[in-house]
Amino acid sequence: MRLGFHLSIAGSLLRAIQQAQVLGCQALQIFVQNPRAWKWREIPRPEIEAFISARRLAGLGPLAVHLTYLPNLASVDAALYQKSRERLARELALARELEADYLICHPGHAALEPESFRRVARTLAAAVAQTSPPPLVLIENTAGQGQELGWRPEHLGMIMRRAEVPLGLCLDTSHAFGAGYDLRHPAGVARLLLEIAQGPGLERLKIIHLNDSRAPLGSRRDRHAHLGQGTIGLEGFRQFFSHPWLRPAAAIMETPKRHQADEWRNLLCARSLTSTKMLLG
Ligand SMILES: [Zn+2]
Ligand SMILES: [Zn+2]
Repeated sequence: MRLGFHLSIAGSLLRAIQQAQVLGCQALQIFVQNPRAWKWREIPRPEIEAFISARRLAGLGPLAVHLTYLPNLASVDAALYQKSRERLARELALARELEADYLICHPGHAALEPESFRRVARTLAAAVAQTSPPPLVLIENTAGQGQELGWRPEHLGMIMRRAEVPLGLCLDTSHAFGAGYDLRHPAGVARLLLEIAQGPGLERLKIIHLNDSRAPLGSRRDRHAHLGQGTIGLEGFRQFFSHPWLRPAAAIMETPKRHQADEWRNLLCARSLTSTKMLLG
């Protein structure tokens, strides 16, 4: 399993590659714009080309782009919905230019009703149809905070079926735990993977977001923690990774960013967890 982090592109796209190399990552996730603003920074062609060649040289892959935070693909507000659709299409096109493998997005916030899932499906289908060939769009499970959709695999399966374009799945361990799936115990892991198998399908699971949680089980809250320092814990993750159905190509950590020592530690933990997996598998 290839391991990596979500890394910052503040200043330049190349910064994320350099940082990934310092850390010894194999996979990488980035935002392609400031995640908390609608303002668009046009990225100069030479910067894009430098990024592509540096990534090739570093042998980094898969490369995932995470959609920025402001778009709400399920919004009932017509203006926000339109803006979100345009933004998704624009970020997907940029992800393609950067030769990203995946674009990861959350389903959005809206009432838990079939029309909300239809809106998300229409948005995703339109963006995918506009970009050719697009990086594979992965929908990420959520903790279900507030009106957040996607805290059950069934929600993601509904969107995928309605979109009628190829879509994949990104499984965030911290979000799943917040949504009530107890990854520390075989029954909790089995329930989650069974629901994925029955909803989106296990073959769609491409990326794991490997995060511990600061929130209690089933709290519907989204708080990431360093591996082994949260409510899932290393023993919990060991349990999670021992399930034979779990075979994603890459795990990406979105752990809090304070000291570089934390990244080294998280990477060591992740390596020990996933190498046990390889021995077992
Ligand atoms: Zn996410
Ligand atoms: Zn995540």
